[in-house]
Amino acid sequence: MPPASRCSSCRPTRSWRSLVNPWPPRVERHYAGRTPTARDGGSVTSLPDANLPDLRRCDAVLFDLDGVITPTAEVHMHSWRAMFEELFAQWGIEPAYTDQDYFDHLDGKKRYDGVATLLRSRDVEVPWGDPSDDPSLDTVCGIGNRKNIVFSRVLAEEGIAAYPGSLALLDALAAVGTPVAVVSSSKNARDVLTAAGILDRFPVIVDGATAERDGLPSKPAPDMFLAGARQLQAVPARSAVLEDALSGVAAAAAGGFGLVIGVDRGAGAATLTAAGAHVVVGDLAELVGPATR
Ligand SMILES: [Mg+2]
Repeated sequence: MPPASRCSSCRPTRSWRSLVNPWPPRVERHYAGRTPTARDGGSVTSLPDANLPDLRRCDAVLFDLDGVITPTAEVHMHSWRAMFEELFAQWGIEPAYTDQDYFDHLDGKKRYDGVATLLRSRDVEVPWGDPSDDPSLDTVCGIGNRKNIVFSRVLAEEGIAAYPGSLALLDALAAVGTPVAVVSSSKNARDVLTAAGILDRFPVIVDGATAERDGLPSKPAPDMFLAGARQLQAVPARSAVLEDALSGVAAAAAGGFGLVIGVDRGAGAATLTAAGAHVVVGDLAELVGPATR
């Protein structure tokens, strides 16, 4: 169980719990006992549906991308499959690539580590190479970069649609002028947002390219989220973060964000809460109240 409060600058004294009676069992189960704050100095707990926090009262709302705004994991899986099926055919590698390979060797791993692990599973070794390798090179890095080319091509050809609930929440926040940002470790964040047709909704984007340029450590370090808040001129303790990954939830909690919302796309509510989430939802639509629907 995370600490009751890690943020000394949270001034409001009323707890979420005191504002809602009774708490629904699901929210009660995932409530972590901390007190988010709002732009007007009150609690971020004017609950639009009497159950969950009203993000419109935050200084700012920072969104992770993959799994929070867009179902990008499916595109990554498709891209790996397309790239490896072609590579396996060219090199005569057996057994054939299957989606189970994605879960066994690629999912959640750094791109190059995944390539090396998968090839090793077929007793294939290639030189590691360098991240600057051209995608045509048969090195671990070159093959990883080739996957990224495929990822961009799949995005361009097939597009991607944001989760409807995420769009609804963005609409609700835009209607009252709550600043928003995307904070994603992916170097493809702008491409994904462009493919989803929502790039212009985010005045601030802190992505993998930003992190590399500015020397920001990856999540679970809080630096990327803090950079996003700083660019929005928002106080972290009065801002919210939405994350589906344990490392991202931990990063937001470490950054002292006033409201850390875990989005359960498979990680599990209990583990997201244990990582530092104040509240866990299954979809961002749950955060859109009746007044903004
Ligand atoms: Mg994510």
